Amino acid sequence: MKAPLEETQNRVQMDTEEHRDCIRLMPVSLANKIAAGEVVQRPASAVKELVENALDAGATRVDVVLQDAGSSLIQITDNGSGMSPNDAQMAVQRHATSKIRSVEDLDSISTLGFRGEALASIASVSHFELRTGMDTGNPASLLTFEDGALKEVRPAPPMKGTVISVRNLYYNVPARRNFLKRPQTELKHILDAIQVLAMSHPGVAFTLQHDGNVLLSLDAETGEDMATNQAARLSALLPIGDAEGLIEVDESTSYLSVKGFLGHPDDARRTRGLQFLFVNGRWVRHRYLEHAVHAAYEYLLPEGSYPFFALFMDIDPRHVDVNVHPTKAEVKFDDERGVYGMLRAVVGRALGMALGNPDFSQAKPMTGMRLDLGALSLSEEHPGRVGSNVPSMGDQGPLGALFAGQHPSSAARSGAPRVADISRSLYQGMPTSTSPRTETLQAGSAAAYAAASASGLGEDVLLWQLHDTYILTQILSGLVIIDQQMAHERILYEQALDCLNDGFGLSQQLLFPRTIDFSASEFALLEALMPDLAKLGFDIESFGGSSVIVRGVPADISTGDERSVLDEIVDQYRMFERVEGLQGRENLARSMASRGAVRAGISLTPREMRSLIDQLFQCESPYVSPDGRPTMIRMSGNELRERFDRT
Ligand code: ADP
Ligand code: MG
Repeated sequence: MKAPLEETQNRVQMDTEEHRDCIRLMPVSLANKIAAGEVVQRPASAVKELVENALDAGATRVDVVLQDAGSSLIQITDNGSGMSPNDAQMAVQRHATSKIRSVEDLDSISTLGFRGEALASIASVSHFELRTGMDTGNPASLLTFEDGALKEVRPAPPMKGTVISVRNLYYNVPARRNFLKRPQTELKHILDAIQVLAMSHPGVAFTLQHDGNVLLSLDAETGEDMATNQAARLSALLPIGDAEGLIEVDESTSYLSVKGFLGHPDDARRTRGLQFLFVNGRWVRHRYLEHAVHAAYEYLLPEGSYPFFALFMDIDPRHVDVNVHPTKAEVKFDDERGVYGMLRAVVGRALGMALGNPDFSQAKPMTGMRLDLGALSLSEEHPGRVGSNVPSMGDQGPLGALFAGQHPSSAARSGAPRVADISRSLYQGMPTSTSPRTETLQAGSAAAYAAASASGLGEDVLLWQLHDTYILTQILSGLVIIDQQMAHERILYEQALDCLNDGFGLSQQLLFPRTIDFSASEFALLEALMPDLAKLGFDIESFGGSSVIVRGVPADISTGDERSVLDEIVDQYRMFERVEGLQGRENLARSMASRGAVRAGISLTPREMRSLIDQLFQCESPYVSPDGRPTMIRMSGNELRERFDRT
C-alpha cells in the first residue's frame, strides 16, 4: 500500500519542480545571433573576419566588393586553400575551426583567426553564401544559409579558393541594422580594417570596389627583400610619400623582434591617424606602447604633432595573450614594461642612425640650447635603481641581451653612472642659489638633506611649487613642470612592482594589531592576494570567518593611516578590476600607487620636492604615470623665446 502513495508523492514533486525550472539551453541560432553582437558589430567587422580567413587560408589575392557600404553586399573572393565539401558545411558551425585543436594551441597561435565564431555569427545575421573548392580538377561546393541554417548544397564548377557573399547584413536584427552609421562612416571603418590587413601582408594583392568604384588596388609586393616590399606597400597604401623617405627599424633578440618603418619627424602630422603597431602580424591598439615610440621621438617633434610609424613586433606567442577580446584588437604582454623599454630604445637608435648622428643616445642638443629631458630619456633606457639591490630591467630576463653593452643598465648596479647623476647633469652650470632663503628652509634637516642630496639633485637647484600641485624647475634648456601626484604614482608603482617581483617589501609592525571584517567576496579576493600582499610588506592572517588580522603594513606607509590602508587597497583594487579589468600584480601595484601618492593640494618642502624628482628619474619610465598620463611637461628655451617673440 505504501509504494503507490510514494509514487504519487514523487510525481507531484516532479510536476512542481518541472513547473519551477525555467533554465533552457538556447536554440543554436539564438546563441549565434548573440555572439554576432560581439563579433560582427558592424559591416567592417564582417569584412575584417572574412579577409582574415582568406589570409589564413594562404591567399595571395583578395578582392572585396561592397554595395551600400556593406549593408547590401559584402563579397570576398580569395585564391587560398579553399575547403572540402565537408569542411565547407562544418565551417559555418559555431566553434568550428581548423586552426586550433587543444588549449595548448592557444599558446602558439600563428593565424589571425582561432575562435571559430566568425562564419557562424555572420551567417546567422545575413543571407550567406559560400562557394569554395580546393583545386581545378574537382567540383567546388556552393552552400547557401538562411538564419544560420544550411538551406542548400550544390556542386559548382571547379575552382581553387573561396567566394563568400554576405547579403542584407542584420536583416533579421532590426535593432542592429538601425544602429548603423551613415554609409560614409561604415565605409571608412571598412577601409581602415582592410588597410591594416594590407599593411601586414605586402605579399598579397588587394582590391576594393564599392558600388562599382575601385577604391583600392594594390599589387602584391613580391621582391626578394622583405623590407623593400614592406616599404613599397606602406607607401602605396598611405599618404606618407616615397618608400625611400622612410626610416627603417630592424632589431631582434630571442625575446622580441621589431621591424618596420618610421616617418621623418619633419613630416609629422597633427593627428595620430598614421600610427600603427602590429603584434605577431595582428594590428593592435596599445596606448602604452604607442607612447614608447613617442617618447623616443619626443624632442624631435613640436608639441602636438605625431609622426607616422608602422612597427611589426614578433614575440613568442607564449609571452603574449591575444585572447583578451573577441575582436582581438587588444593584447597583453607578460613583460609590458620590458617591451616598452625595448621599443623606445629601438626607435631611438633607428632615428639616431637615420638622422645622421650615429650615437643619438648621447646626442648633443639639436640646437644650441637643447640639452634636455629628451636626451635623458634616450640615454638612459634602463636605469639601475639607486640604493636598492633590485636588478634593473636590462638584467632581467631575455630583454637583457638587447641592451647588453649598449646601455649602462648593468653597469648601474656596480656603481657606474646612475640616473641621479644624469638628472644632476641636466642642471650643471645652472646659476646656483646660495641665498639665505634656501638655507633657512633647509636648516631644520640639514643632516638628512645632505645625505639625500649626495645621491641626487644638488641643493643649489631651484624648485618652486605651484598651487601645491606642480613642481616647477629650470633646466639648462628651459622649464620643466612636474605633476607631483602623477610623478609620485609612477615612483610608488615601480617600487611596488619591484617588491612584488623580488618579494622583500619591508614591514612595520603595528603596536595594536587590528582585525577587519570583510564581505565574503572581498575576503576571497584578499585570500588570493595574500602572498603578494606579504611581498609588499603586509603582515596579515585570516582570523576566522571573513575577517583578517593586520599585524604589520608596508614600512613606507605614513603613520596615522596604517590602520585603514588594507581596506583602502582592497577598495581600490576592486575599482581597477571593475573599471579597467586590471588583475593581479599589475592591479596591486597600481592600487598601492594610487592610494599612496601625494595628492594635489599638498604642500611639499624643497627637500621633498628634490627627493621626488630624484626618485622619479630613477624610474624606468619617468615620463608617464602608471595609467599613461604625462608626469611632466617641458618648455624648451626655444619655445619660450618664440612665445615672447624673441627670435
Ligand atoms: P576561425 O577563423 O576562428 O577558425 P571562422 O568561423 O572564421 O573561424 O572560420 C571557420 C573555419 O572555416 C576556419 O577555421 C577555416 O578552416 C575555414 N575557412 C573560413 N574561411 C575560409 C577561407 N576563405 N578559405 C579557406 N577556409 C576557410
Ligand atoms: Mg576567422
